[in-house]
Amino acid sequence: MIDVAIIGAGVIGCAIARELSRYSLEISVLEKEADVAEGTSKANSGIVHAGYDAAAGTLKAKFNPRGSAMFPKLAQELDVPYKQNGSLVVSFSIEDTARLEKMMENGKRNGIDDLEILSREQVLEICPQLSDRVVAALYAKTAGIVCPYELTVALAENAASNGVKFRFGSRVSEISRIKNGYKLAFDDGQTLETKAVVNAAGLFSDEINNMISEKKLKIILRKGEYCLFDRMTENIPPMTIFQLPNEMGKGVLVGRTVDGNMFVGPNAIDVENRDNLETTAKGLDYVLKTAALSVSDLNTRQIITSFAGLRAHLESEDFEIGELADAEGFFNVAGIESPGLSSAPAIGEEVAKLVAERLSAKPNASFNPVRRGIPKFREMSNVERDAAINENPAYGKVVCRCETVTEAEIVNAIHRPLGATTLDGIKRRTRAGMGRCQSGFCTTRLLNILARELNLPEEAITKSGKGSELLIGKKQ
Ligand SMILES: Cc1cc2nc3c(=O)[nH]c(=O)nc-3n(C[C@H](O)[C@H](O)[C@H](O)COP(=O)(O)OP(=O)(O)OC[C@H]3O[C@@H](n4cnc5c(N)ncnc54)[C@H](O)[C@@H]3O)c2cc1C
Repeated sequence: MIDVAIIGAGVIGCAIARELSRYSLEISVLEKEADVAEGTSKANSGIVHAGYDAAAGTLKAKFNPRGSAMFPKLAQELDVPYKQNGSLVVSFSIEDTARLEKMMENGKRNGIDDLEILSREQVLEICPQLSDRVVAALYAKTAGIVCPYELTVALAENAASNGVKFRFGSRVSEISRIKNGYKLAFDDGQTLETKAVVNAAGLFSDEINNMISEKKLKIILRKGEYCLFDRMTENIPPMTIFQLPNEMGKGVLVGRTVDGNMFVGPNAIDVENRDNLETTAKGLDYVLKTAALSVSDLNTRQIITSFAGLRAHLESEDFEIGELADAEGFFNVAGIESPGLSSAPAIGEEVAKLVAERLSAKPNASFNPVRRGIPKFREMSNVERDAAINENPAYGKVVCRCETVTEAEIVNAIHRPLGATTLDGIKRRTRAGMGRCQSGFCTTRLLNILARELNLPEEAITKSGKGSELLIGKKQ
């Protein structure tokens, strides 16, 4: 019997796993997909919200400001790019500006002090890209941006280096109570016994809860669609630009990723199907028209792709976090919609403490919080590039030309702890395939390298796990 089974390897499950590895416990993360960050954690706005908008008194208001404050140290420990570039909520009328004042007061109640309302003239000084319609803005200096999947990978790698086991392709299909714990059954008939369970199953967290608790949950699936622009787009706003929130969420924003792409979105549409990630002409049209209210000159010719993510919304409008009243040792971390990414470090810390207390766990004396990422050729100076190529000639072979990713980085991504086994895994660890050509040129080269390094036939290489094979019908 292991000590803790965490269901779900999104940013939440991985943040909890890393925090729990500070204790001497036998921990497994169980993930139905082939890699970490295959759920909502791969497709969101990547914003570390300052924490002014969650209604005071809610769990969102508790964890968002705490999580956001933890980011600078966490990003340094995990070697993950993070920028505190600030955010604006813009208003288009005097009446809306009154709502900004209310938001600022709410932020102060949440402990966010350095908020400011800026006049049109003041805000244009820090963000000249704003449209003529903007009359004022709420400025939050502490808002930031992070790459959500790179963060998830880093949390998971660090947890794995500290002893946490990850089981991919392991969907938990049944849970039953046993003496001193729970028995989990997987699709393939295997089982696992554990003293404690953490339900971090994202869009499926209601299903996992409902397998054990009498207090049933229902996740409402709320889709958000985005357009992503090329990094070469000129005049990208330096900070995130929100409009005032509506009853469906934070509304359409104009942002920049930590890697320098501009993006606009998301809209908010309730859908039925947990794998409805398609983008629609109607949705993207709405997103572009709404974003154009905030900024002038959106150059739509620079759009390189579109994508969508699903929010795990609960009717309570809040996160559901803690041990179940009717199931000792079973912890829910459910309904983690936005600001879930911003809150992840704080949720990880809190849930790990609760679980450790329940199991009377001792500290892990050999815990090491530091993880080093893959050295990026595109960020090196010419002198550093020379040295890297001298040491490892694979740094001299550029595989992804749009993002300048070398073979050395790809091989590193495959062979590090929890290394990539799929094309998407390589993409999220190195950015190979994320540029303007959207992997048109590098797919076959990535496939060859994966097959060579994993010692597999090319037909066995997939985009994102079983069922997404890239080559079919190859002659023997
Ligand atoms: C459009 C959109 C924009 C957002 N923008 C932001 C933002 O800017 N800032 C912010 O703070 N937050 C944002 N969020 C919220 C944030 O993305 C989520 O809170 C966060 O990613 C949730 O992480 P998670 O680990 O709970 O879920 P997930 O990442 O979905 O992980 C859950 C995992 O559980 C696995 N799983 C499910 N069922 C099982 C099972 N039975 N057995 C095994 N594994 C299972 C899934 O495969 C998945 O990998 C946004 C969300 C959306 C949709």
